[in-house]
Amino acid sequence: MKRKTIKYTSVRFSHLTSYHGIGAIVRGTEDRLMVLVDTRYWKDKDGEITTKEIPYVKRITTALNIDKELHLPPEAKETHEGLSGSYLPAVLFPRYATCKKCGLLHNQPWKKQGIELDEKVYCVSKNCGGILEQVTWCVVSNKGHLAEVPWHNICHLGPDVKCEPDYGAEYLSLTTNQNGKRVVRCHRCRSQHVFEKTQKLNHINQHQPWIFEGSPELDEADKVEVLEVNNPGVYIPERVNALVIPPESRISQSTVVDKLFRNSKLCREIDLIRNPLRRKGKINEVARLLNAPASEIKQALKEIKEGYPYLDDFSVNDLYEDEYKAFLEPLKDQKEDEDFVTEHLTNQWDDLTSSKLSDDLKSIVSIVDQVVSARRLREIQVFKGFYRLSSEDKENLVSPDVIGESNWLPAIELFGEGVFFTLDKAILEEWESKPEVIKRADEILQRYEKAHVNFFQDIEVTPRFLLLHTLSHLLIRELEASAGYPAASLKERIYCSKSKNMAGILIYTAVPDIVGSLGGIINSAEPTTLLMILDNVFKKARWCSLDPVCTEHEGQGPGWLNRAACHACSLVPEPACEYGNVFLDRVFIKGDDEEGIPIFLDFVFQYKKTE
Ligand SMILES: [Zn+2]
Ligand SMILES: [Zn+2]
Ligand SMILES: [Zn+2]
Ligand SMILES: [Zn+2]
Repeated sequence: MKRKTIKYTSVRFSHLTSYHGIGAIVRGTEDRLMVLVDTRYWKDKDGEITTKEIPYVKRITTALNIDKELHLPPEAKETHEGLSGSYLPAVLFPRYATCKKCGLLHNQPWKKQGIELDEKVYCVSKNCGGILEQVTWCVVSNKGHLAEVPWHNICHLGPDVKCEPDYGAEYLSLTTNQNGKRVVRCHRCRSQHVFEKTQKLNHINQHQPWIFEGSPELDEADKVEVLEVNNPGVYIPERVNALVIPPESRISQSTVVDKLFRNSKLCREIDLIRNPLRRKGKINEVARLLNAPASEIKQALKEIKEGYPYLDDFSVNDLYEDEYKAFLEPLKDQKEDEDFVTEHLTNQWDDLTSSKLSDDLKSIVSIVDQVVSARRLREIQVFKGFYRLSSEDKENLVSPDVIGESNWLPAIELFGEGVFFTLDKAILEEWESKPEVIKRADEILQRYEKAHVNFFQDIEVTPRFLLLHTLSHLLIRELEASAGYPAASLKERIYCSKSKNMAGILIYTAVPDIVGSLGGIINSAEPTTLLMILDNVFKKARWCSLDPVCTEHEGQGPGWLNRAACHACSLVPEPACEYGNVFLDRVFIKGDDEEGIPIFLDFVFQYKKTE
């Protein structure tokens, strides 16, 4: 790629992995559409890669089977003087623009007319002078390619057309006909073509908008389509979120030994010096650099030799399973600056039984097993790559460096706090083995198997999962209604597996800046508060303003994967949900007489009575 063609744009840090990842079309600072280029070009003006390795994430990379480091992307800061620091590089895309007045298509008019991207550019047609606007169409393939629409070819699809392309000239126009359909016309040979919403092609002439070498080879089964740039199929990121837990979360990142440990180059330099006098000089130099006495540097070097940070023998299982266990295990001698700080409130929760409670409240106290307030959490979002058109075939994942050779993946760190609780397994097992409950969950499962929807992790569609997920959504909505947390700033994490003995919900905040956290969500974990909140959750599950329609729905949402759940009762803003706002059904909580599904809290009450 020629250096000159890289234009820099600023991208919100936290959005990098979720929406605006590598290969995504974003609106840049000049208010033009741009596409973010791959990590091979994440260099500063000296040609250095400007990323920083994220330390102590071995558990996450091991559990995810990623044999790579995780790196923070270059950070752009918005100041009142504009942007400072390094930004994520991006290129203008699409490079075609049409005249708002006459529809004439122009190839790279900014470059051709020598005009800056943030300036207006005008039509070159005689006496027109209309303003040009970027086209909003692109071509994608299921192999992850993205290219300009071959406007000349699309216009001349008919047989026996002899009109040679001339990419430097303006002779095609793109307009809308009376039926609202897009028409490409050639002013030279009068060919024209009306193109459909999903115009299929059999060829794509570019790998990515920032890669100019070679054209992609496709198999017969591969698909190429013309899509609008905001079509969800243009960009499907693959990301994974994970929490940093003990032992790695316990390593203090502000100590001298840690600073030295993470600066492996410095350690090596000291190590290589054999001459005692020179070694002493180097240690003094490092001491000044790290702003610590030389004695501490010597002590730190000794600790590193002895195996600091002593992490060799921690076992890694499943990502969720390990986190679940970490929540359940009280930690001794916690310091507030650790990355996973919990407070166990189960005893106080159980004490609630001694107060006078209604039957429903009693049932809530019985069904909630463990209550943990997560005072500090650190979440890592790993960007594994992206798909276009479809994420069904995992082979088609485009890695963050496109060629799949980099030894690191981009990732971001988020900080937050949350409320974690589990449900009583004995009661759940009894409930989830009821044939009526299984039957209703199986219907969703069958739809899921048929639906072409893809999620970031494997989901076991079971009664337990549908119950936990629906509860989680109602809880997020309740926290917004009662405590004023904007639902969009909350996130859910569902720990659900019968075989791994998990049934837990974490509701948490996660923001890029440790001081930017909303705070206060942990107050909701306080047992009497939590009981009030859950009481409202169970009450609200019974009712939707769109009932009876909502409750009686055979299916709603993508793939019909929701039953009794709609915008009015159960959906949450997109960033809050890990599962695309589906797999929700209030009937598992509110019950259904005809189907023989019990009211959940009544079921709990009966269970406790006969226990
Ligand atoms: Zn014009
Ligand atoms: Zn023509
Ligand atoms: Zn509803
Ligand atoms: Zn959700």
